[in-house]
Amino acid sequence: MTIAVYPGSFDPATNGHIDIATRAASIFDQVIVGVYDRPAKTLLFTTEERVELIREALAELPNVSVRSFSGLTVDFARHVGAKVIVRGLRASADFEYEFEMALMNRKLAPEIEVVCLMTSVEYLFLSASLLKEVAELGGNILNMVPEHVASALRKKFLR
Ligand code: ADP
Repeated sequence: MTIAVYPGSFDPATNGHIDIATRAASIFDQVIVGVYDRPAKTLLFTTEERVELIREALAELPNVSVRSFSGLTVDFARHVGAKVIVRGLRASADFEYEFEMALMNRKLAPEIEVVCLMTSVEYLFLSASLLKEVAELGGNILNMVPEHVASALRKKFLR
């Protein structure tokens, strides 16, 4: 049985994240979405909120579960018995970062493979950070996030 972890900040989950998790779930026996407890970025949602939002988004996939973690992703992967780390790739800017991180992770844990799934073209320009900016300014985020995430964003920005 191949277990994969899909780690990220998911602040909040977007349709791009959901697409990657759904496709990973059709490749691997079990996918564990790992929500970083303390990423090196400013967060809008708490860890509990980020976990809940992506959990609800993926609730219909029986082989996907969600949990938060802190520390190194490779330690989390080892802890849950995962052989694979899944990441999503958008444009070339993602590539440089993911490539560096994958090589570092291989140094730290040679037994774990990083598998990058290419974004679906409709999500090529969708990032959680840009989405938050648009939502804060009252822009239309339809087709970028599920309804429950849109509603959580509206609450945060009191719209
Ligand atoms: P991180 O803080 O680790 O970059 P993110 O929550 O921003 O976490 O993203 C988690 C993963 O999902 C990353 O591999 C990122 O490249 C990928 N990702 C984010 N948005 C998209 C998208 N629109 N299409 C495909 N992959 C995406």
